[in-house]
Amino acid sequence: MKVGFIGLGNMGSPMAMNLLKAGNELIVFDVVEANVAFVIDQSKQKAISCKNVYELANMDLDVIVTMLPASQHVRSVYLGENGILENVDSNTVLIDSSTIDPQTARELHTLANAKGIALLDAPVSGGTAGAQAGSLTFMVGGDDNTFQKMKPFFEQMGKKIFYCGRAGNGQVAKVSNNLLLGISMIATAEAMTLGVELGMDPVVLANIINASSGRCWSSDTYNPYPGVLESTPASRGYTDGFGTDLMLKDLGLACEAAKSVKQPIMLGGLAQQIYQAFSRQGNGHLDFSSVINFFKNH
Ligand code: NAD
Repeated sequence: MKVGFIGLGNMGSPMAMNLLKAGNELIVFDVVEANVAFVIDQSKQKAISCKNVYELANMDLDVIVTMLPASQHVRSVYLGENGILENVDSNTVLIDSSTIDPQTARELHTLANAKGIALLDAPVSGGTAGAQAGSLTFMVGGDDNTFQKMKPFFEQMGKKIFYCGRAGNGQVAKVSNNLLLGISMIATAEAMTLGVELGMDPVVLANIINASSGRCWSSDTYNPYPGVLESTPASRGYTDGFGTDLMLKDLGLACEAAKSVKQPIMLGGLAQQIYQAFSRQGNGHLDFSSVINFFKNH
Protein backbone atom coordinates (compact mmCIF):
# COMPACT_ATOMS: atom_id res chain seq x y z
CA MET A 1 0.00 0.00 0.00
CA LYS A 2 0.94 3.61 -0.39
CA VAL A 3 1.17 4.87 3.21
CA GLY A 4 1.52 8.40 4.56
CA PHE A 5 2.92 8.74 8.09
CA ILE A 6 2.77 11.97 10.12
CA GLY A 7 4.62 12.26 13.46
CA LEU A 8 8.03 10.58 13.46
CA GLY A 9 8.87 10.73 17.17
CA ASN A 10 9.86 7.99 19.60
CA MET A 11 6.90 5.83 18.58
CA GLY A 12 6.13 6.99 15.04
CA SER A 13 9.60 6.54 13.62
CA PRO A 14 9.93 2.78 14.41
CA MET A 15 6.27 2.19 13.46
CA ALA A 16 6.84 3.82 10.07
CA MET A 17 9.99 1.75 9.57
CA ASN A 18 8.05 -1.46 10.23
CA LEU A 19 5.51 -0.44 7.57
CA LEU A 20 8.34 0.07 5.10
CA LYS A 21 9.90 -3.31 6.00
CA ALA A 22 6.51 -4.94 5.40
CA GLY A 23 6.68 -3.79 1.79
CA ASN A 24 4.59 -0.61 1.79
CA GLU A 25 5.57 2.60 0.05
CA LEU A 26 6.25 5.20 2.75
CA ILE A 27 5.66 8.96 2.54
CA VAL A 28 6.46 10.90 5.71
CA PHE A 29 6.13 14.28 7.39
CA ASP A 30 7.13 15.75 10.75
CA VAL A 31 7.53 19.38 11.83
CA VAL A 32 11.00 18.52 13.14
CA GLU A 33 13.26 18.16 10.11
CA ALA A 34 15.82 16.06 11.98
CA ASN A 35 13.13 13.43 12.68
CA VAL A 36 12.29 13.25 8.97
CA ALA A 37 15.97 13.02 8.05
CA PHE A 38 16.44 10.18 10.54
CA VAL A 39 13.68 8.07 8.95
CA ILE A 40 14.82 8.82 5.38
CA ASP A 41 18.32 7.78 6.41
CA GLN A 42 17.13 4.60 8.19
CA SER A 43 15.08 3.69 5.12
CA LYS A 44 18.19 3.99 2.93
CA GLN A 45 16.42 6.77 1.00
CA LYS A 46 13.42 4.52 0.19
CA ALA A 47 10.95 6.66 2.15
CA ILE A 48 9.85 9.95 0.57
CA SER A 49 9.41 13.15 2.58
CA CYS A 50 6.77 15.88 2.13
CA LYS A 51 7.17 19.50 3.11
CA ASN A 52 3.82 19.77 4.89
CA VAL A 53 0.54 18.01 5.71
CA TYR A 54 -1.18 19.51 2.66
CA GLU A 55 1.37 17.99 0.28
CA LEU A 56 1.17 14.59 1.99
CA ALA A 57 -2.64 14.55 1.97
CA ASN A 58 -2.58 15.17 -1.79
CA MET A 59 -0.33 12.17 -2.55
CA ASP A 60 -3.18 9.81 -3.48
CA LEU A 61 -2.53 7.50 -0.53
CA ASP A 62 -4.23 4.28 0.59
CA VAL A 63 -3.69 5.02 4.30
CA ILE A 64 -2.52 7.90 6.47
CA VAL A 65 -1.28 7.14 9.99
CA THR A 66 -0.82 9.94 12.53
CA MET A 67 1.26 9.51 15.71
CA LEU A 68 1.25 12.90 17.40
CA PRO A 69 1.79 14.07 21.00
CA ALA A 70 -1.68 15.31 22.01
CA SER A 71 -5.17 16.46 20.95
CA GLN A 72 -4.11 19.97 19.88
CA HIS A 73 -1.52 18.54 17.46
CA VAL A 74 -4.08 16.07 16.07
CA ARG A 75 -6.56 18.91 15.55
CA SER A 76 -4.00 21.04 13.76
CA VAL A 77 -3.04 18.19 11.41
CA TYR A 78 -6.60 16.98 10.60
CA LEU A 79 -8.59 20.22 10.59
CA GLY A 80 -8.36 23.52 8.72
CA GLU A 81 -7.83 24.45 5.09
CA ASN A 82 -4.46 22.73 4.76
CA GLY A 83 -5.33 19.78 6.98
CA ILE A 84 -5.93 16.12 6.11
CA LEU A 85 -9.74 16.17 6.03
CA GLU A 86 -9.96 19.06 3.53
CA ASN A 87 -7.43 17.58 1.13
CA VAL A 88 -7.46 13.82 1.26
CA ASP A 89 -9.08 11.54 -1.31
CA SER A 90 -12.18 9.82 0.12
CA ASN A 91 -10.65 6.37 -0.59
CA THR A 92 -7.81 7.01 1.87
CA VAL A 93 -8.29 5.34 5.27
CA LEU A 94 -7.21 7.55 8.18
CA ILE A 95 -5.73 6.02 11.32
CA ASP A 96 -4.95 8.15 14.37
CA SER A 97 -2.70 6.25 16.78
CA SER A 98 -1.96 9.22 19.06
CA THR A 99 -3.29 9.00 22.62
CA ILE A 100 -5.95 11.74 22.81
CA ASP A 101 -9.27 12.33 24.57
CA PRO A 102 -12.22 10.26 23.35
CA GLN A 103 -14.30 13.43 22.77
CA THR A 104 -11.83 14.83 20.20
CA ALA A 105 -11.55 11.40 18.57
CA ARG A 106 -15.36 11.26 18.21
CA GLU A 107 -15.49 14.78 16.77
CA LEU A 108 -12.90 13.80 14.13
CA HIS A 109 -14.91 10.69 13.25
CA THR A 110 -18.04 12.79 12.75
CA LEU A 111 -16.24 15.31 10.53
CA ALA A 112 -14.54 12.57 8.49
CA ASN A 113 -17.77 10.59 8.07
CA ALA A 114 -19.57 13.72 6.85
CA LYS A 115 -17.08 13.77 3.97
CA GLY A 116 -17.40 10.00 3.35
CA ILE A 117 -13.88 9.35 4.70
CA ALA A 118 -13.16 6.28 6.86
CA LEU A 119 -11.30 7.01 10.09
CA LEU A 120 -10.19 4.72 12.93
CA ASP A 121 -8.92 5.79 16.34
CA ALA A 122 -6.17 3.30 17.18
CA PRO A 123 -4.03 4.20 20.20
CA VAL A 124 -1.35 1.74 21.24
CA SER A 125 0.32 0.25 24.28
CA GLY A 126 3.69 -1.46 24.37
CA GLY A 127 6.01 1.56 24.48
CA THR A 128 9.01 2.29 22.29
CA ALA A 129 10.31 -1.29 22.65
CA GLY A 130 6.99 -2.60 21.30
CA ALA A 131 7.06 -0.07 18.47
CA GLN A 132 10.52 -1.22 17.45
CA ALA A 133 9.74 -4.92 17.74
CA GLY A 134 6.44 -4.55 15.87
CA SER A 135 4.65 -6.03 18.89
CA LEU A 136 2.34 -3.14 19.87
CA THR A 137 -1.20 -3.66 21.14
CA PHE A 138 -3.72 -1.64 19.10
CA MET A 139 -7.09 -0.58 20.56
CA VAL A 140 -9.28 0.34 17.62
CA GLY A 141 -12.55 2.26 17.50
CA GLY A 142 -14.71 3.01 14.46
CA ASP A 143 -16.54 1.23 11.69
CA ASP A 144 -16.30 -2.59 11.98
CA ASN A 145 -15.89 -3.18 8.21
CA THR A 146 -13.04 -0.69 8.00
CA PHE A 147 -11.43 -2.39 11.00
CA GLN A 148 -11.67 -5.83 9.37
CA LYS A 149 -10.18 -4.46 6.16
CA MET A 150 -7.29 -2.79 8.02
CA LYS A 151 -6.50 -5.56 10.53
CA PRO A 152 -3.65 -7.02 8.42
CA PHE A 153 -2.22 -3.50 8.16
CA PHE A 154 -2.20 -3.12 11.97
CA GLU A 155 -0.49 -6.52 12.22
CA GLN A 156 2.50 -5.07 10.39
CA MET A 157 3.13 -2.88 13.47
CA GLY A 158 1.56 -4.87 16.29
CA LYS A 159 0.77 -8.29 17.74
CA LYS A 160 -2.54 -7.84 19.54
CA ILE A 161 -5.22 -5.95 17.63
CA PHE A 162 -8.47 -5.32 19.55
CA TYR A 163 -11.69 -4.00 18.08
CA CYS A 164 -13.22 -1.82 20.81
CA GLY A 165 -16.51 -0.82 19.15
CA ARG A 166 -17.84 2.55 18.09
CA ALA A 167 -15.84 5.67 17.21
CA GLY A 168 -13.63 6.85 20.09
CA ASN A 169 -13.74 3.53 21.94
CA GLY A 170 -10.06 2.84 21.18
CA GLN A 171 -9.25 5.96 23.21
CA VAL A 172 -11.73 4.91 25.91
CA ALA A 173 -9.88 1.57 26.31
CA LYS A 174 -6.52 3.35 26.38
CA VAL A 175 -7.48 5.93 29.06
CA SER A 176 -9.16 3.25 31.19
CA ASN A 177 -6.05 1.04 31.12
CA ASN A 178 -3.65 3.90 31.84
CA LEU A 179 -5.87 5.14 34.67
CA LEU A 180 -5.46 1.74 36.33
CA LEU A 181 -1.72 1.62 35.55
CA GLY A 182 -1.09 5.09 36.98
CA ILE A 183 -2.88 4.17 40.21
CA SER A 184 -1.36 0.69 40.54
CA MET A 185 2.18 2.08 40.14
CA ILE A 186 1.60 4.51 43.00
CA ALA A 187 0.09 1.73 45.14
CA THR A 188 3.09 -0.52 44.44
CA ALA A 189 5.49 2.34 45.19
CA GLU A 190 3.74 2.99 48.52
CA ALA A 191 3.74 -0.67 49.54
CA MET A 192 7.37 -1.25 48.58
CA THR A 193 8.54 1.90 50.41
CA LEU A 194 6.58 1.04 53.53
CA GLY A 195 7.92 -2.54 53.62
CA VAL A 196 11.54 -1.43 53.20
CA GLU A 197 11.16 1.38 55.79
CA LEU A 198 9.86 -1.23 58.24
CA GLY A 199 12.93 -3.39 57.64
CA MET A 200 12.20 -5.77 54.73
CA ASP A 201 14.64 -6.54 51.95
CA PRO A 202 13.04 -5.13 48.74
CA VAL A 203 13.73 -8.26 46.66
CA VAL A 204 12.22 -10.58 49.29
CA LEU A 205 9.23 -8.26 49.70
CA ALA A 206 8.62 -8.11 45.91
CA ASN A 207 8.86 -11.91 45.66
CA ILE A 208 6.23 -12.27 48.40
CA ILE A 209 3.88 -9.67 46.87
CA ASN A 210 4.27 -11.34 43.46
CA ALA A 211 3.23 -14.70 44.95
CA SER A 212 0.35 -13.10 46.86
CA SER A 213 -2.82 -11.10 46.33
CA GLY A 214 -1.02 -7.75 45.90
CA ARG A 215 0.58 -8.90 42.65
CA CYS A 216 0.08 -6.66 39.61
CA TRP A 217 2.00 -5.61 36.45
CA SER A 218 3.60 -2.73 38.37
CA SER A 219 4.95 -5.18 40.97
CA ASP A 220 5.92 -8.22 38.90
CA THR A 221 7.00 -6.77 35.55
CA TYR A 222 7.87 -3.10 36.16
CA ASN A 223 8.72 -2.94 39.86
CA PRO A 224 9.59 0.66 40.85
CA TYR A 225 12.16 -0.32 43.50
CA PRO A 226 15.75 -0.20 42.16
CA GLY A 227 17.46 -3.58 41.96
CA VAL A 228 14.32 -5.72 42.25
CA LEU A 229 14.11 -6.49 38.51
CA GLU A 230 17.17 -6.19 36.31
CA SER A 231 15.74 -4.81 33.09
CA THR A 232 13.32 -2.16 34.43
CA PRO A 233 13.82 1.62 34.30
CA ALA A 234 14.12 1.50 38.14
CA SER A 235 17.39 -0.39 37.75
CA ARG A 236 18.88 2.13 35.29
CA GLY A 237 18.10 5.45 36.97
CA TYR A 238 14.54 5.60 35.60
CA THR A 239 15.73 6.35 32.07
CA ASP A 240 14.28 5.08 28.75
CA GLY A 241 10.79 4.25 29.88
CA PHE A 242 7.34 5.81 29.85
CA GLY A 243 7.79 9.40 31.03
CA THR A 244 6.12 10.80 34.15
CA ASP A 245 4.76 13.64 32.00
CA LEU A 246 3.17 11.16 29.55
CA MET A 247 1.46 9.40 32.45
CA LEU A 248 0.36 12.79 33.78
CA LYS A 249 -1.10 13.58 30.35
CA ASP A 250 -2.99 10.25 30.23
CA LEU A 251 -4.44 10.76 33.73
CA GLY A 252 -5.52 14.25 32.64
CA LEU A 253 -7.34 12.64 29.71
CA ALA A 254 -9.00 10.16 32.06
CA CYS A 255 -10.14 12.96 34.41
CA GLU A 256 -11.49 15.04 31.50
CA ALA A 257 -13.29 12.06 30.00
CA ALA A 258 -14.73 11.18 33.43
CA LYS A 259 -15.98 14.76 33.82
CA SER A 260 -17.82 14.52 30.47
CA VAL A 261 -20.02 11.74 31.89
CA LYS A 262 -19.84 12.91 35.55
CA GLN A 263 -18.22 9.62 36.57
CA PRO A 264 -16.24 9.92 39.83
CA ILE A 265 -12.66 8.57 39.55
CA MET A 266 -11.33 9.56 42.95
CA LEU A 267 -8.13 7.55 43.04
CA GLY A 268 -7.44 8.66 39.47
CA GLY A 269 -7.79 12.31 40.51
CA LEU A 270 -5.42 11.80 43.43
CA ALA A 271 -2.94 9.91 41.24
CA GLN A 272 -2.97 12.77 38.74
CA GLN A 273 -2.13 15.25 41.52
CA ILE A 274 0.71 13.05 42.81
CA TYR A 275 2.33 12.80 39.34
CA GLN A 276 1.75 16.53 38.89
CA ALA A 277 3.52 17.43 42.14
CA PHE A 278 6.31 14.97 41.31
CA SER A 279 6.74 16.43 37.82
CA ARG A 280 6.89 19.94 39.26
CA GLN A 281 9.84 18.81 41.36
CA GLY A 282 11.72 18.33 38.06
CA ASN A 283 11.01 14.66 37.37
CA GLY A 284 8.71 14.88 34.34
CA HIS A 285 11.30 13.36 32.01
CA LEU A 286 11.97 10.32 34.21
CA ASP A 287 10.08 7.03 33.83
CA PHE A 288 6.77 7.16 35.72
CA SER A 289 7.86 4.40 38.13
CA SER A 290 10.27 6.98 39.63
CA VAL A 291 7.16 8.28 41.44
CA ILE A 292 8.43 5.96 44.22
CA ASN A 293 10.90 8.74 45.06
CA PHE A 294 7.92 10.94 45.96
CA PHE A 295 7.25 8.52 48.83
CA LYS A 296 10.89 7.85 49.71
CA ASN A 297 11.52 11.59 50.09
CA HIS A 298 8.53 12.33 52.31
P1 NAD B 1 7.03 12.19 20.45
O1 NAD B 1 6.89 13.53 21.06
O2 NAD B 1 8.35 11.49 20.53
O3 NAD B 1 6.63 12.26 18.89
C1 NAD B 1 5.63 13.06 18.36
C2 NAD B 1 6.10 13.58 17.01
O4 NAD B 1 5.05 14.38 16.43
C3 NAD B 1 7.33 14.47 17.10
O5 NAD B 1 8.31 14.03 16.19
C4 NAD B 1 6.81 15.86 16.72
O6 NAD B 1 7.78 16.66 16.06
C5 NAD B 1 5.67 15.48 15.79
N1 NAD B 1 4.70 16.56 15.60
C6 NAD B 1 4.14 17.38 16.53
N2 NAD B 1 3.28 18.23 15.95
C7 NAD B 1 3.28 17.94 14.64
C8 NAD B 1 2.57 18.47 13.52
N3 NAD B 1 1.71 19.48 13.65
N4 NAD B 1 2.80 17.94 12.30
C9 NAD B 1 3.69 16.92 12.16
N5 NAD B 1 4.38 16.36 13.17
C10 NAD B 1 4.17 16.87 14.40
O7 NAD B 1 5.87 11.30 21.09
P2 NAD B 1 5.79 9.70 21.11
O8 NAD B 1 6.47 9.18 22.33
O9 NAD B 1 6.15 9.18 19.77
O10 NAD B 1 4.22 9.51 21.36
C11 NAD B 1 3.26 9.74 20.36
C12 NAD B 1 1.89 9.40 20.91
O11 NAD B 1 1.86 8.04 21.32
C13 NAD B 1 1.48 10.23 22.14
O12 NAD B 1 0.12 10.55 22.04
C14 NAD B 1 1.78 9.30 23.31
O13 NAD B 1 0.95 9.57 24.42
C15 NAD B 1 1.47 7.96 22.69
N6 NAD B 1 2.17 6.81 23.30
C16 NAD B 1 3.50 6.92 23.64
C17 NAD B 1 4.14 5.83 24.21
C18 NAD B 1 5.62 5.91 24.59
O14 NAD B 1 6.10 5.00 25.29
N7 NAD B 1 6.36 6.92 24.13
C19 NAD B 1 3.44 4.63 24.44
C20 NAD B 1 2.10 4.54 24.06
C21 NAD B 1 1.48 5.65 23.48
